[in-house]
Amino acid sequence: MRRAGALRRRCTVARLEPPAELDLLRPSVGQVRGGAARPPVELHADVITPAEEDALAAEADRYLRARRYEAGHFDGVIRHYRELQRPLRSWSSASRSLFDRVASLAALPSGAELLPVHVLDLEAHGEISRHVDHVEYSGESIVGLSLLSHAVMLLQHEADPAAAFDLLLPRRSLYVLRGEARYRWAHSLPLQPSFEGQSLPPKSRRISVILRDRPPNEVPREV
Ligand code: MN
Repeated sequence: MRRAGALRRRCTVARLEPPAELDLLRPSVGQVRGGAARPPVELHADVITPAEEDALAAEADRYLRARRYEAGHFDGVIRHYRELQRPLRSWSSASRSLFDRVASLAALPSGAELLPVHVLDLEAHGEISRHVDHVEYSGESIVGLSLLSHAVMLLQHEADPAAAFDLLLPRRSLYVLRGEARYRWAHSLPLQPSFEGQSLPPKSRRISVILRDRPPNEVPREV
């Protein structure tokens, strides 16, 4: 028979620790739920300084200013956003050198021809639903630099959406989706960020700057 004293002692020892605070500046890849193997995903912390983030966001703002935020259709992929694409040569030299640094960190083949830089400005209440980037319009690597806010990206296997894992994307961090993570897993950006079941502070307005190589089988346009 169990003695009351021992039980009481055990209860005192088995105090629940409060959950550890998640560091919103440290990129993290969560465990896969639903039993699939996790594909390789690269995350890099602090690839630009706060001053470089300010300057790049200000430059993006100048180009975005003329555009209105769009609510997005209820069945559309993105809601509450504006976006643009701008060729590399049309950015300031400071931003071009940031993009060079990002491309080499992401191991894009040197000299790879990049598509125009995609800027996606998501309002605080914006969200992106599950999709795989178009295989005809984007290349083998999707390289995203997050500005102004943390966010969580959810990856779900195309064939089995119960297989899922979270990516915590701090501001100034970089993610690289390629291979299986780019083609076989769909990604989304939920409105309310939570990482492995732990809810995080709400995100704020976020700008992502996305570099992409050209699609491998792009057919040259006939003249
Ligand atoms: Mn995407």
